[in-house]
Amino acid sequence: MSFVISGATLVDGTGQERFQADLAIADGVITEIGKFDIGEAMHVKRADGLMLTPGFIDSHTHDDGYLLAYPDMKPKVSQGITTVVTGNCGISLAPALSDATLPQPLDLLGPKELFRFKTFASWLAQLRATPATVNVVPLVGHTTLRVACMSDTGRAATRAETEAMQQLLEEALEAGAFGMSTGTFYPPAAHAPTREIVEVGAPMKARGGLYATHLRDEADHIVPAMEEALEIGRELESLVVFSHHKLAGSKNHGRSSETLKIIDEAHKTQPVCIDCHPYPATSTMLRPDRVRIAKRTMVTWSKGYPQGAGRDFADIQAELGLDIQGTIDYLAPAGAIYFLMNESDVSRIMSHRLTMVGSDGLPFDSHPHPRQWGTFTRVLRAMVREQNEMTFEQAIHKMTGLPAENYRLKNRGLLRPGYCADLVLLDAERVADRATFEDPIQVSQGICDVWVNGVHVWNGTDVTAMRPGQVLSRASFDRTN
Ligand SMILES: [Zn+2]
Repeated sequence: MSFVISGATLVDGTGQERFQADLAIADGVITEIGKFDIGEAMHVKRADGLMLTPGFIDSHTHDDGYLLAYPDMKPKVSQGITTVVTGNCGISLAPALSDATLPQPLDLLGPKELFRFKTFASWLAQLRATPATVNVVPLVGHTTLRVACMSDTGRAATRAETEAMQQLLEEALEAGAFGMSTGTFYPPAAHAPTREIVEVGAPMKARGGLYATHLRDEADHIVPAMEEALEIGRELESLVVFSHHKLAGSKNHGRSSETLKIIDEAHKTQPVCIDCHPYPATSTMLRPDRVRIAKRTMVTWSKGYPQGAGRDFADIQAELGLDIQGTIDYLAPAGAIYFLMNESDVSRIMSHRLTMVGSDGLPFDSHPHPRQWGTFTRVLRAMVREQNEMTFEQAIHKMTGLPAENYRLKNRGLLRPGYCADLVLLDAERVADRATFEDPIQVSQGICDVWVNGVHVWNGTDVTAMRPGQVLSRASFDRTN
């Protein structure tokens, strides 16, 4: 199948200035860019007045199970995303060895039935057998390995448990994982000392792979937590991805100048990068430490009190007449949105040259954080068009060329002959997120067409029936060949 997109302005993903050109696609690959003879038999898509960019790469997702349950991936393709990085914050769907009840935060990835893959390879095989609309860059989570290998996660791993986790990581890398993530902020990994993570991660030294970290602390003790992550990166000789970089709690607001300086300094001697989303609120499981430092907490889902989803925690607490812990116990297990960041920190972090855009969305929440549906279009509306915090070209680079370089995606992330045809056609004047904290399940506006591997998956109002997504290859990470 070959076609030409004609008349669009191209923003190629490098951060360089836009230019006018036609672009030809054949068999899922960009074949030509510029002015060329369009053969008569070729299908021509007119795109005058629109911008053509590489497909967006969502650098930080929890879509591991959603890809299988809802392969049309509407929350993602509707905002121009063509590739998702899964397995962040220490939690991946596979390998799931235990039949015990799912500890939080693993349940953020979806219902227990989805945790049916005993090996990383079997999950990837399922994704290949029943592909989604989007491509996948899979990471394996250290918390998932702990839950699989340890009888009690409330302590450091024993030698035998560490070796068992190492073995599972080795298998996951062999199967195609791009690296390992950790989430020592969360109970099942909070007792893992630095040494354990370095030892479990040892197979990455031989095989390559990146290290994505949800820091142990994003509040008062963020600096030692960052130093720990940098040390792990050096030990494993891995790129460190600072996940959803933020400063939580009002007494830490403004400290992004300090943390970005640490990252800049580290960047001189070791590979580092950042992902972040453009909202002043975060979302995860319901926990007292977050409720206490947040200006406002909204419940996103609750097993104990399902009607609480979408309501303010403070209102539920007043209604129940309980203290914070009592209210949490009543709602548990549950998730929440916490308004605990400062807008200027968010802007400063997003504008940093090493920052990629990552939604961190939680796809199964009944009243999710709007980032699942609106992250990329919000950057283009609010940060580019309304607030002028970066150019359109810089924003597109953070969504395409930069993550493709960090995750070493072969022939992706740029508009170049020979590159895969992951493409977005959008109206730069109209593009906007519509998802809000009150009404979070809303498609964006101004995303006119999306192609994944040359196949049309979004027509401006809805998904098509096509599922061309691929599990991308980690080949470029391999140190062995
Ligand atoms: Zn996280």
